[in-house]
Amino acid sequence: MSLDTLTITEEHYEQLKKATFRSDGKEGAAFLLCGRSKIKNEIWTGKKEERFLSREVHLIPDEEIISSSTADVTFKHETYLKILKLAEEKDFAVALVHSHPKGHLYFSKTDDVGESGFFQLASNRNGSKRPQLSLIIERNENLIARVWQNNKTRPIALIRVIGKRITLHYEGKHTQLSKEEFARQALAFGPALNNDLQRIKVAVIGCGGTGSPTAMLLARLGIGNILLIDDDLVEKTNLNRLHGSSASDVKNKKSKVEVVKNAIQAMELDTIVKTIKGTVESKECQDALKSVDLIFGCTDDHLGRMILNRIAYCYLIPVIDMGLAIKVQENTSPPILQTLDGRITYLFPNEVCLLCRNVINPKKAYAETLRKNNPQEYEKQVKEEYVEGEGNPSPSVVTFTTDLASMAVTELIDRLQGFRGEHSGAAERRRKYITCEERRTGAAARSECPVCSNKKYHGRGDMIPFLDISL
Ligand SMILES: [Zn+2]
Ligand SMILES: [Zn+2]
Repeated sequence: MSLDTLTITEEHYEQLKKATFRSDGKEGAAFLLCGRSKIKNEIWTGKKEERFLSREVHLIPDEEIISSSTADVTFKHETYLKILKLAEEKDFAVALVHSHPKGHLYFSKTDDVGESGFFQLASNRNGSKRPQLSLIIERNENLIARVWQNNKTRPIALIRVIGKRITLHYEGKHTQLSKEEFARQALAFGPALNNDLQRIKVAVIGCGGTGSPTAMLLARLGIGNILLIDDDLVEKTNLNRLHGSSASDVKNKKSKVEVVKNAIQAMELDTIVKTIKGTVESKECQDALKSVDLIFGCTDDHLGRMILNRIAYCYLIPVIDMGLAIKVQENTSPPILQTLDGRITYLFPNEVCLLCRNVINPKKAYAETLRKNNPQEYEKQVKEEYVEGEGNPSPSVVTFTTDLASMAVTELIDRLQGFRGEHSGAAERRRKYITCEERRTGAAARSECPVCSNKKYHGRGDMIPFLDISL
């Protein structure tokens, strides 16, 4: 059996709430056009998953509403047929959204009969076999949804409402008993957080100085499913900061993902860890990346960050990207520190992307692609100074890489649970270790930015090539 899930941006969710909860207390309805992410091989289960990704809200104009009561709403189909046409052109799916102002969180008999006829009509008119969705927003903001296909329904197992906060809707969120191992954190944040953590699937991209402590903390926190991606083997110079590693891993040529996975499994917290020894831009990572609910960007390379930057917007998968900057004055011995800063950036539609924040340097991303694809041409261009060479290794110290990982994982807790209240939701935080300060850093999106300014990629889902990047 395949799995169906739905991701809605906070912005769209607010629009849908406004459209479906009418001021007169009666039911309202609206449409949500959804991009599609078809996962052939979900990395934890090996099953198929389809994710529907909110892209545009379409309101039903008043003149199309035929009748509305506290239990029912009927309308003409003009807007609906227009959206269906849009969906056919781009392989999108359409969700019919309505409210249950009286508060029942189930599809009523009226819903069953009404939707069956409604969706059948569309299939007949358009000859479409594509899935269509129905979503109910209940009075207390609980959500349920289902897929209609070939006049049959199947439930949507998970609905994510994602923006400044990450809110998950699934069966058992408030009733499941959380495990004793995590009882102490439930005392601080409540049991629902533990259930969310157990439920979500998180990727850690890069398992080095920041990635290895991030993965360890995620496992201790009770994340049920962790995916580790890194191409490197453990080297002697990693031992100062790679959590879980030992000198024998260097001798035995162990990969970083293997070492981190083994360390997590040794905790015996039932974490399901999947690994890919490879680079994030490789083809084998595509389905795996699409399978996760959140990504920690712990990579240093510009090409890797470029991929993650696009995934956040195209697939509505939030990315918490992190970076440590240690700079010393040139030609001084002993070194004199100029900068010692940690940064975390939260990427999602409505936030400014890493390109606009100058975290990604497109020229360096190009050089990295060339080095991988055509090493000879790369060497030639370095000599001719067309591209920059790799330079010296960067300084790195375990206390700072680990602190940064902790800062990033704490950000995840806040996004899910909201303990910071009005202090939540900074798109970027910088910790300055020399002066013991923490700052929220703002940035403006560039009007020409293809990723964050232009909405054409937001919730777009599958494209050819993947993420519209030719590598
Ligand atoms: Zn209903
Ligand atoms: Zn941008």
